[in-house]
Amino acid sequence: MIEDKETVFTGRQLPEDGSVDTALRPRSFAEFVGQRRLVENLSVYIKAAKQRGEPLDHLLFSGLPGLGKTTLSFLISTEMGTELRATSGPALARPRDLAGILTNLEAGDVLFIDEIHRLPAAVEEYLYGAMEDFTLDIVLDQGPAARSIRINLKRFTLIGATTREGQLSGPLRGRFGVNEKLDLYPAAELTEILLRSAKRLAIPLEPDAADCIARHSRGTPRLANRFLKRVRDFAQVESGNRITLAVAERGLARLGIDAHGLSAVDRRILSTLLRAGGVPVGLKTIAVSVGEEEQTIEDVYEPWLIQQSFVLKTPRGRLATPRAAEVLPEEAAPGKKGELF
Ligand code: ADP
Repeated sequence: MIEDKETVFTGRQLPEDGSVDTALRPRSFAEFVGQRRLVENLSVYIKAAKQRGEPLDHLLFSGLPGLGKTTLSFLISTEMGTELRATSGPALARPRDLAGILTNLEAGDVLFIDEIHRLPAAVEEYLYGAMEDFTLDIVLDQGPAARSIRINLKRFTLIGATTREGQLSGPLRGRFGVNEKLDLYPAAELTEILLRSAKRLAIPLEPDAADCIARHSRGTPRLANRFLKRVRDFAQVESGNRITLAVAERGLARLGIDAHGLSAVDRRILSTLLRAGGVPVGLKTIAVSVGEEEQTIEDVYEPWLIQQSFVLKTPRGRLATPRAAEVLPEEAAPGKKGELF
């Protein structure tokens, strides 16, 4: 995910200013771990486009935060040998913002729009013509003097990233030639990412410690790298600058992650559900009870809790599973039931 509003990076040179999570970002497809089918397909599309001397078709990447959508987009522009211009749906508030960017694109450039589901409808409409026939119809003046002029754009590639594919309008989704979903990573792949990151950070990381951090990282490379950096701090200051299994376990515990991989927020979510005593609980209630935004619960916490069979999502609300009761027995005790309501 990109933090700043609009940035131009060359595909070959990634910024090191900290504005983007770049220090540990893979610099080639070979360094991009996992998502094999997707990476192999992308390599073919890129090769084919290059052979034809054409820009790549527009691509849509969906998936939870931190799974590598931005990283893949950078890699694509690197492989194509073009520049990447990055912006986000909320940053493109007016059609004028989009027009400014589109008219500055060179042939083959990649325009990356993060959180594309948050693009205002008026801006989205301008994007249709730009994506389809690389034109932009701009209305000049107002009232009777109003007239529309058509601007021809260079042939660019749009890459949209979204955590909420369902919120994209049909017409926008239909204009992407490639529509791919990134999945949560198995622990073994996160271990590989962590070992590579440790090398880049020049910190010795023992394989069982890497495995331990991986299993606590909810299938998400960004989280795995974040935990690694924090555990490195503990190792550096307190444990002779080497991450052993004991150092990793202690570090994760100090970050509030328990032996089951649950954070404090996860535990609060599960407590809320367990206290409801088998009555399905709505997202709003969970959000209020936990003190987080509904979207954060849905995008950040819930997917992994569901994948790990701690939570069941039903049409009437969320339920705690027997596994949740097992790891938080005190909340599942009969005396606690119904306390929430
Ligand atoms: P998203 O755009 O989906 O939110 P990012 O592309 O920003 O995710 O990825 C977050 C960080 O996780 C990156 O900076 C990179 O260090 C790491 N990362 C993501 N995917 C991979 C991967 N497949 N292999 C190695 N590192 C990855």
